[in-house]
Amino acid sequence: MRTHKSMKNIDKNLLREIITHKDFSGSVSFMEPMKDHTSLRIGGQADVFAVPKEAISLKNMLFALKEEGIPFIPVGGGTNMLVRDNGIEGVVISLKNFERMDIVGKERDSVMIYIESGAPLQKLVSLSRDNGYSGIEGLIGIPGSIGGAVSGNAGSFGYSVKDVLISATLMDADGEVTEINADRLRLGYRSSRIPQGSIILSAIIEMRPNSKEDVKKKMKEFIKEKRERHPLSELSAGCVFRNPEGMSAGRLIDEAGCKGMKIGEVEVSGLHANYFVNKGNATASDFIRLMDEVSKRVRKAFGINLEPEIRIIGRR
Ligand SMILES: Cc1cc2nc3c(=O)[nH]c(=O)nc-3n(C[C@H](O)[C@H](O)[C@H](O)COP(=O)(O)OP(=O)(O)OC[C@H]3O[C@@H](n4cnc5c(N)ncnc54)[C@H](O)[C@@H]3O)c2cc1C
Repeated sequence: MRTHKSMKNIDKNLLREIITHKDFSGSVSFMEPMKDHTSLRIGGQADVFAVPKEAISLKNMLFALKEEGIPFIPVGGGTNMLVRDNGIEGVVISLKNFERMDIVGKERDSVMIYIESGAPLQKLVSLSRDNGYSGIEGLIGIPGSIGGAVSGNAGSFGYSVKDVLISATLMDADGEVTEINADRLRLGYRSSRIPQGSIILSAIIEMRPNSKEDVKKKMKEFIKEKRERHPLSELSAGCVFRNPEGMSAGRLIDEAGCKGMKIGEVEVSGLHANYFVNKGNATASDFIRLMDEVSKRVRKAFGINLEPEIRIIGRR
């Protein structure tokens, strides 16, 4: 197996050449601050931030990265990740140019939608609301992309991506493209088994035609509740910890007396204790210290180990 090269040892011009040496359209930037690409607005620099325009450019780039043993990570909306202060080694690949959405099949009780991975999840939610397509009402208000939502099986109010996902098309590290049935992706509670190194290019979603009023009414109730109970106007990455079986992590954190706890500029939200918010210029190390402190208190109070829900990435 090839070892990953350290970016420090790679000349930038050479790297630019490596990434763009074959037909590549899109943009490439170096030392890109990840705080500009995450909802927490925290994170050091990515060595390279690449935004391919279409699949062939992505394929060519992946091929070159593999040849050179350069690591990469896909990013969608950056709404479920904490990037460490030392930044990310290798290439962060943004799928934001992959945003097409088409209705590809319609019957009396089924509507099939093709949607690319960089499209916002809320684009699909708007389609559902405007046309009365049922199945994802509870996903209203969840930020981020389709790719991130499939990868983490985003969900809320008893709804999740798993309920409506028929298949996903993936590109592996060799640039090979395969459509995989949803059951093989093993979507579970905020998890999936997307093969390591694969990038989700698109998804096929199935919803049910319903009455527009019904769909709208449900969404209105859900978003009202979400706005009342979650600090949506603050900088966060959603829930920090996974709910332990049959329990609410937020309630455990609250009952362990952690609401309002603060380290540096990171605070346990007073509205929902499983949200940690960036009150200004927070650092990832403060965020991780607060996670450790909260976990410790919950363990001490209830003997329960909290597991992170957010993805912590980057150089230690
Ligand atoms: C205010 C707020 C509220 C939230 N509410 C909810 C909620 O109710 N329910 C919920 O489930 N989540 C919630 N979240 C968390 C987050 O929005 C979701 O997890 C979302 O689906 C993440 O999508 P993203 O595109 O931002 O993913 P990112 O943060 O960009 O990435 C997350 C992971 O997915 C991987 N990934 C992203 N795109 C691809 C791709 N194309 N191919 C392969 N891997 C990929 C990344 O490598 C990373 O490991 C909330 C977040 C915020 C900030």
